[in-house]
Amino acid sequence: MQVEDVTIGELAKHIPTPFYCYSAAAIASNYQRYSDAFAGLDSLICYAVKANSNQAILATLAQLGAGADTVSEGEIRRALAAGIKAEKIVFAGVGKSEQEIRYALSQGILQFNVESEPELERISALAVQMNTTARISIRVNPDVEAKTHAKITTGLAENKFGINIDLAPQLYIKAASLPGIEVTGVDVHIGSQLINLEPFAAAFAKVAELVSSLKAQGITIKIIDIGGGLGINYGEHSDEPDIRTYAEHAKQHLGHLGCKIIVEPGRSMVGNAGVLVSKVEYVKTGQERTFLILDAAMNDLIRPSMYDAYHHIATVEQKPNQAVYDIVGPVCETGDTFAKSRALGECEQGDLVAIMGAGAYGAVMASHYNSRLNAPEVLVSGKQYSIIRERISFDTLLAMDTLPAWL
Ligand SMILES: *Cc1c(COP(=O)(O)O)cnc(C)c1O
Repeated sequence: MQVEDVTIGELAKHIPTPFYCYSAAAIASNYQRYSDAFAGLDSLICYAVKANSNQAILATLAQLGAGADTVSEGEIRRALAAGIKAEKIVFAGVGKSEQEIRYALSQGILQFNVESEPELERISALAVQMNTTARISIRVNPDVEAKTHAKITTGLAENKFGINIDLAPQLYIKAASLPGIEVTGVDVHIGSQLINLEPFAAAFAKVAELVSSLKAQGITIKIIDIGGGLGINYGEHSDEPDIRTYAEHAKQHLGHLGCKIIVEPGRSMVGNAGVLVSKVEYVKTGQERTFLILDAAMNDLIRPSMYDAYHHIATVEQKPNQAVYDIVGPVCETGDTFAKSRALGECEQGDLVAIMGAGAYGAVMASHYNSRLNAPEVLVSGKQYSIIRERISFDTLLAMDTLPAWL
């Protein structure tokens, strides 16, 4: 198995497993597909940093011209450090703190995607205090069913995100009257891992209606941020939405409004560009099942336990025979299971396996649970590879705690 011109078996000789491995060319090709698809529109691709916030990934995208969709001060700092200009950074999230808003204002970011009335008031007050102006979009909740996993659905009335689209005009009128606020746009993001494009079309149509009605009320919208959410093929079924069709929906519903379109892909930019490489520690034959016990665990990749997510898993070397396994990690939780009853090349101790589609919401969601060290991250480009995040040492792990003086 190779990532670009580097074989994974060779990498594993130098880097102890488990580790993440990403392809720079795959990321560039995903970016290119977005930029081609949206070429007919005045558009900006703001990569959703939360999907994979490693600065080497951000710098790769920055060089291609990407902006950033961020959800915290830490993400804004990462994006800036990786060379993404403040005028290409948008800031979303339901719980922006005073400190975070101040920081974003001090950097002069492109816009805040505002999720509530009290947040709008807070931004206004802080902008006045700092003698500056905050450009804002209001994130509207269009109440459409994204038809994805409940934990990654964000555009329903019952979800915590955004402002009910029917109540949005009132808030826009208020925003236009507030000091320190410049209304620039509308924002919508209905969920993640969407395979069916119809919910996007429905949301875009509702946003178009809102933009027209705001215009009639004297509020000019210059930017429409259509969020992210395009799904990828994790290997469970062959459906993968087409970026061109997605962009066509945007053009059809929003193209005539003369606005700049921001698109915020996360998963579809990096998901299929990464694998988690792991080693078989034991093949354990139970009474009913055979377990493949890996050295990677839920603390490295939580998607299977958190979202019941499917990831294709393959042996790094081709195997002559097939076997069926429950593929698990060493963590002391039944939920530490990557796959159940999965057919795979027959393995023995020491074999390498690759968990595919691990580039998004993988390393960023990792923890040190069970006092396990992090899986390092490696970026490949052609024949070259570089460790872009080291595995910390046990000394560093232990030094994260400090003992109170009384002990
Ligand atoms: C998570 C998120 C995204 C990216 O979603 P993907 O499904 O990874 O494309 C974009 N915008 C907002 C506001 C988000 O919360």
